[in-house]
Amino acid sequence: MQVTVLRLGHRYMRDKRISTHIGLVARAFGACELVMDLKDPLVEESIQQVVSEWGSSFKVHTTENWKKYIKEFRGDRIHLTMYGININQCMDKIKETPKDKLIIIGGKKVPSEVYSLVDYNVAIGNQPHSEISALSVFLDRFFNGTGLDKDFGGNKKIIPQKHGKKVLENQKT
Ligand code: SAM
Repeated sequence: MQVTVLRLGHRYMRDKRISTHIGLVARAFGACELVMDLKDPLVEESIQQVVSEWGSSFKVHTTENWKKYIKEFRGDRIHLTMYGININQCMDKIKETPKDKLIIIGGKKVPSEVYSLVDYNVAIGNQPHSEISALSVFLDRFFNGTGLDKDFGGNKKIIPQKHGKKVLENQKT
């Protein structure tokens, strides 16, 4: 079962840092790819740089037609929005099926069609906050925290310390 994140409403320059962080959160918390509705080489390069140093097979793609992408996705389509059903009430049902998951997050106002194209509109609480926080809470709950124990098999590996930093280099065989 694979999890893909679809980022809608990316704006050049203004959203570079946020979209990069979405990719990093998606990778670190267990998703396998990020799909953007606009090609932004700077965002792709920043994420790929992390992948090449720290590992995983995480990918970044662009779709030219997000509507078609959502319609044709084979699996559960889950839109994160403060207007949806509280995650506390729907996560058990989402976990029941072993289908692939598409997690959709917005930036600027999400087109209203998205709400009816998906299988679930999920709220990480019904208060406004951010796409980065919504994605991280969703993935952590979905994977029951196991994403945080994953070995990414990268060149660099952190040896956790109570104090200070220890990083091993050239770990990839
Ligand atoms: N009015 C927007 C909404 O529909 O949630 C808030 C816009 S917010 C700046 C950008 C994105 O953050 C939203 O498109 C949504 O994906 C995510 N987001 C913000 N608050 C959220 C919440 N409470 N639950 C789930 N997603 C949220």
